Amino acid sequence: MKEIKCTIIQDVLPLYMDEVVSQDTKEMVDRHLKQCETCQKEYESMKRKLYIPAENKDSLFDKISKKWRKKKVMISIVSVLATAITLLGAFAYVFYYERVIPYSGNLIKIEMQNDHQLVSHYYGESYATVHGTHPFSLEIDGEKKNISFIFYTKTFADSPTRNLIKNEKNDEQEYIFKLAESEKIDAVYYADYDVEKIATGKESWDSILKRAVLIWEK
Ligand SMILES: [Zn+2]
Repeated sequence: MKEIKCTIIQDVLPLYMDEVVSQDTKEMVDRHLKQCETCQKEYESMKRKLYIPAENKDSLFDKISKKWRKKKVMISIVSVLATAITLLGAFAYVFYYERVIPYSGNLIKIEMQNDHQLVSHYYGESYATVHGTHPFSLEIDGEKKNISFIFYTKTFADSPTRNLIKNEKNDEQEYIFKLAESEKIDAVYYADYDVEKIATGKESWDSILKRAVLIWEK
């Protein structure tokens, strides 16, 4: 039986291992394997590759699927968290991110009250905050002047609570911002400023003045 080619044996080895070969073929392979070292080695290596102990088969697949399930749970948790963070960020952006309201003469008017108080009157629907400085001395065109800076901000979503307060109070006081007594102030400029930048020297009032709009002058 030496005449059987190794390639033929190796072709039927998988079937032989699965025990789906005829009795004749089985005997033929058995005989060949006993004589041929090459095919024997091939057979051993195929056995090792395929070999999964029956008693461990289930638990192995179990482990794999458990691992996968864990992974899936983790992926779900992470995506839920990511969504929550994104929503929170969007919420904060819409409700808390303040943008400077550009100056408009129809929206913001500096007015003198009867008690000689200079006030800023806001005629818009709503605003988030009003920022104003006390009058301070600044040299403008070689002349010392007492000036105030003022600016209004809004958020993307007009705060519903602010409108509620306004309606409940039923007066306009909230939309009036007291600047100073008129004799203490020469001019009012509209420009946004960041007190932190000014305090740390990153920005100066002179540079702010350059982009400011003069909105009231004595
Ligand atoms: Zn052989």
